[in-house]
Amino acid sequence: MSGKVRTRFAPSPTGYMHVGNLRTALYAYLKAKSCGGDFVLRIEDTDQERQVEGAVDIIYNTLRETGLLWDEGPDKDGGYGPYVQSERRNIYLEYAKKLVESGHAYYCFCDKDRLEEMRAIQKASGQAPHYDGHCRDLTPEQVAEKLAAGTPYVIRQKVPREGIASFEDVVYGHIEVENSTLDDQILLKTDGMPTYNFANVVDDHLMEISHVIRGSEYLSSTPKYNLLYDAFGWEKPVYIHCPPVMKDSQNKLSKRNGDASYQDLIAKGYLTPAVLNYIALCGWSPKGEQEIFTLAEMEKIWSETGISKSPAIFDTEKLRYMNAEYIRRMSPEEFFAAAEPWIDQAVHVKCDKKLLAHTLQPRCEVLGEIPAQLAFVDAVQEYDLELYRSKKMKTTPETAKEALLAVREVLAGLDDWSFDAIHTACFDLIAKMQVKNGWLLWPLRVALSGMQFTPGGGIEIAAIIGKEETCKRVDAALARLG
Ligand code: GLU
Repeated sequence: MSGKVRTRFAPSPTGYMHVGNLRTALYAYLKAKSCGGDFVLRIEDTDQERQVEGAVDIIYNTLRETGLLWDEGPDKDGGYGPYVQSERRNIYLEYAKKLVESGHAYYCFCDKDRLEEMRAIQKASGQAPHYDGHCRDLTPEQVAEKLAAGTPYVIRQKVPREGIASFEDVVYGHIEVENSTLDDQILLKTDGMPTYNFANVVDDHLMEISHVIRGSEYLSSTPKYNLLYDAFGWEKPVYIHCPPVMKDSQNKLSKRNGDASYQDLIAKGYLTPAVLNYIALCGWSPKGEQEIFTLAEMEKIWSETGISKSPAIFDTEKLRYMNAEYIRRMSPEEFFAAAEPWIDQAVHVKCDKKLLAHTLQPRCEVLGEIPAQLAFVDAVQEYDLELYRSKKMKTTPETAKEALLAVREVLAGLDDWSFDAIHTACFDLIAKMQVKNGWLLWPLRVALSGMQFTPGGGIEIAAIIGKEETCKRVDAALARLG
């Protein structure tokens, strides 16, 4: 190997970027960048039956949006290509044949019926499913005969029947398994495509990957992969297996709940940098107290020593908190640009959208909640007159009538309809009437929105919806109050 740190993200194009996968990509990226190395993108599309239209674009777009830019990949040749596994078929065939020649793999001609029968017998006798070695010791002549007859075949790994396969994982420590428990797994399928089990070894070696960073679901298979490295006489990479990202201690984050993928989270109105920041902390702890990091900051401080082996729980509340933090840190212009599409979902009347966004920014945690927060802009929501009653504000429907009559008169006489002017007018009135703020402003909020909770109070709402609409709504409220 060159001695340079080279990591890879090797997604299968499933049409879906699970947050656990995105986190793997992030860690692989951070490992490379924190060591001045290269981050390689490899598309693992050997399972042709599971191909999904447009899935590769989802991978590209997600990595680009999140800023996890690759140094090498299908569109960026770094001399180790092709970077798409289906374009590497011949390479796998060549290496599988080498293993057959050296006695570490063998042709298997068992057909489907035989394998099914074998599995049924194993199941009935309580054995774990495994290949029974039927073709393991075919003579070269028998093999040649079957090949000449065009019998379909797979190539299987010839796992030693004795001994122990072990390795050191950076996160999980010493892992070992007895070879006798390992299956003679398929390396090359009947369609000539490699299995993941074979392709990952060949590719990681040929692409000079120094650190393999991937999900812990591959931990138990890694000893088998190492047997392949040994069979070829290749140097093994450093393994960094990452804990799963779970919904809770029992359940995985699943596609069905609609919150397991990067796309789901963006569709709900989470911000890309907040998602990236949060998933960085799913299973990794930085030193110190800081929690909010830009990608550039993470590149400087990231180290695999902070990865934990216990499953990471995806805590939506924590993500919300972080997202809110990112929203607060946006400039008003940035927030307006991000919020406008969501505002437009709820608002179909003319109003001061900039002021609306300004009012929302300190009160919004997730952009997707904006439409519900703004239900009042188009029209007053249906409400019960009891909403005017508030112990805290010392208001009742009767006092509300008094307050609205007074405020109606002041507002109707205002020429300048800026927030500041409305504010001054209302507070002058409060001073003159010697009432509490809420006594006047709570009824105004209810009359203008029909809602108990709104981003901003009566004054903001009045400024946002305009003078004419404000007066109309106050009149309608007064009419209801009788
Ligand atoms: N193609 C595998 C997956 O998407 C990648 C595993 C690996 O990183 O080696 O799960």
